[in-house]
Amino acid sequence: MLLTYQWLNIFIVEGPIIPFISLLNYQCAAIYANDFGCSLKQLGVRECIQEAQNWIYGDTYLILDRPMSSVVDFIAKGLQVHLDWAVQRVQYGTHGVKLHSSDGLIVTADYAILAVPVTILQHGVITFNPPLPKAKLDAIQSIGMNNCVKVLMAFSDRFWPEDMFDVVCTNCFLPEIWITQYPSTSNHTDGRAPLGKFIVVGFMAGEVAAAASRLPEAEVIRRSLSQLDEMFGQVSQKAEYDRSGYCHGIKVDPLNDIPDRSKDLHNFLTRDHVLIPREYVQCPRSRPASAFFQGGCVVNWEKESFVRGGYTYPSLNAHGARFALAEPLQKRVFFAGEATHPGVNPCMQAAIDTGRRAASEILSLDVSGRL
Ligand SMILES: Cc1cc2nc3c(=O)[nH]c(=O)nc-3n(C[C@H](O)[C@H](O)[C@H](O)COP(=O)(O)OP(=O)(O)OC[C@H]3O[C@@H](n4cnc5c(N)ncnc54)[C@H](O)[C@@H]3O)c2cc1C
Repeated sequence: MLLTYQWLNIFIVEGPIIPFISLLNYQCAAIYANDFGCSLKQLGVRECIQEAQNWIYGDTYLILDRPMSSVVDFIAKGLQVHLDWAVQRVQYGTHGVKLHSSDGLIVTADYAILAVPVTILQHGVITFNPPLPKAKLDAIQSIGMNNCVKVLMAFSDRFWPEDMFDVVCTNCFLPEIWITQYPSTSNHTDGRAPLGKFIVVGFMAGEVAAAASRLPEAEVIRRSLSQLDEMFGQVSQKAEYDRSGYCHGIKVDPLNDIPDRSKDLHNFLTRDHVLIPREYVQCPRSRPASAFFQGGCVVNWEKESFVRGGYTYPSLNAHGARFALAEPLQKRVFFAGEATHPGVNPCMQAAIDTGRRAASEILSLDVSGRL
């Protein structure tokens, strides 16, 4: 089985083509692997081909004009939904299913569909009685799901071309950025004023996300601003941030002197936390991102305890594993969720398709419980 980046190097091998290989590797890493939520060397060629052949949803980006929760609320209409009900143990047999919660509550059912992220199964958050068969355990371990980190930055002014939406940045701190613009009036119900109406989102996955997770959040934002300054500012030299910065007039080292707030989720960092040097703020032409920055935050998906990562990717040596993961247990426990889709993996379509598939598996059982 070949890794995707080995495959690139086999086909383009010698002499002056070497710089081209590096460029191609960088581009594939930023465009292809980062979008799959992983690094290039984690992608399997066979799994990528299977994914590409099964993708039937076209190339159009669908951008919601409302939060994702509105989709969930729509689908959940008329259903009885229990929130804050974390499953800790699944007991199953020919009689049916018992779900035990972490608070000691029990729900009894004829059938259950389990749609938790594969990381929850990998980390043994849910135990099974009887234990999962070996084929299922092997499948769980072979499907890869990495971390994803989003950097959200709000600006008081737009400093990019008006029609710009998405930029893939090869060999950069942020491999991809996209733009979101909100209306100037905002109907915030919690009384908080929006930080700025021009939002840039930076997206990192795989090893890049792992490296960013080890940095203090303020440093992640500093490096992101530095990249945007370099991309959009009129500077002749590389727009590196100096390692030092000033906070309330005192010179500090951002890697050591600023308390690391990354253990808390979704903390908003203002200009003071990020330590933007005063001379940068005064130079909107050369350093527009630093000058117009209002505040931002870093969302680290590994720290969301019920998700523990981004989404699964076409993983090396995982061929067939998604079928094994989707296999029901004693025709009582069924599996859904994007990780169980044999074709399209890391997206909403996969999640919805597999929910339908699992529901139809239960509906197609005859009264004796045969599939
Ligand atoms: C940063 C990021 C960007 C993305 N961008 C896109 C995009 O642009 N387009 C797109 O289509 N997809 C995108 N995705 C992927 C998309 O969000 C997922 O593919 C989709 O949410 C998977 O759905 P799912 O139902 O399989 O899993 P999830 O949506 O993760 O749902 C699993 C549910 O299980 C619950 N759970 C976990 N443990 C337990 C437990 N012990 N007991 C009870 N419940 C539990 C969780 O709370 C969660 O509600 C993105 C994902 C990330 C992280």
